[in-house]
Amino acid sequence: MSEHKKVIIIGSGPAGLTAAIYAARAGLEPLIFEGAQPGGQLTTTTEIENFPGFPEGITGPELMEKMREQALRFGTSNKYNSIVNVDLKNRPFKVVDDEGNEFLADSLIISTGASAKYLGLESESKLKGFGVSACATCDGFFYKDKDIVVVGGGDTALEEAMYLTHFGKTVTLIHRRDEFRASVFMSEKVKNHEKIIIKWDSVVEEVLGEQGPVGVTGVRIRNVKTNEIEEIPAAGFFVAIGHHPNSDLFSDVIETNDNGYIKTQPYNSRTNLEGVFACGDVQDPNYRQAITAAGSGCQAAMDAERFLAWTSE
Ligand code: NDP
Repeated sequence: MSEHKKVIIIGSGPAGLTAAIYAARAGLEPLIFEGAQPGGQLTTTTEIENFPGFPEGITGPELMEKMREQALRFGTSNKYNSIVNVDLKNRPFKVVDDEGNEFLADSLIISTGASAKYLGLESESKLKGFGVSACATCDGFFYKDKDIVVVGGGDTALEEAMYLTHFGKTVTLIHRRDEFRASVFMSEKVKNHEKIIIKWDSVVEEVLGEQGPVGVTGVRIRNVKTNEIEEIPAAGFFVAIGHHPNSDLFSDVIETNDNGYIKTQPYNSRTNLEGVFACGDVQDPNYRQAITAAGSGCQAAMDAERFLAWTSE
């Protein structure tokens, strides 16, 4: 028989785990599916200096472990499975995990986050795992004293470039425009870093190299203003051009905007389906911060609690 829960939470970043803490403390005994990346995107970052309460900073993995501990302490149960199928047409909602187990839920909190985008080049996908990566924290270590390339001009790209200077001989940052999207503070830091070379107005045409021990050997870039082609030798190629929301599983019944972000109602976490709530990056194209995700997770749990109270009367 399917396990029946009052609240099921899908996704275990700051949004999902905060929702779990609040739902658990409200006595709702939530079940959280942690998915393919337990702890979410923050587990692939280094130091977090802007999460309130940690004046000395804290690493992403440590912060997420603390949130998990807190959620479990109050009676959350967790599974490291991913949800691969949902039926949200009737209540209780049905969700199915990647081992084929079915679970029923009176309310559902979607906190599936967002995933890294890639450029979409054939050479890039061929060399994934052979020098192409979207996570400097995970893979930077492999490029000690080697040349590294990073693509992107936002805060993520600049943060990754800075981080990679701890390992690489050089870090070449390739950006398609002539100014960064990132904050002024980060931009100045990167512009003044002796190991970082910036290629403005440039796009990657091909990632060079071969699968196997050789891996990435460089990139071919084109200047979009002059059409000049240049080859840059590199052993590591890091893509940091943003993220897309993980909402595909729900998109036939849950309303999303044009970019796939789940639409929630103003000032709360309700979706177009009664009893289904969304929080964190899957519904937030704007702020995408750990603290805003955590805040929206709290809202989702409180909204679910109120919903359950009304529907059980
Ligand atoms: P952003 O969307 O801010 O930036 C993406 C960057 O990638 C842009 O410079 C964009 O170029 C470039 N880009 C997008 N698509 C392509 C493409 N196909 N080819 C080449 N370049 C491309 O994403 P981020 O992940 O950097 O940041 C997301 C949010 O998270 C932001 O709000 C950011 O401020 C925040 N953040 C905050 C941090 C912090 O506070 N410590 C750390 C990291 C992120 P263009 O500029 O031309 O559009």
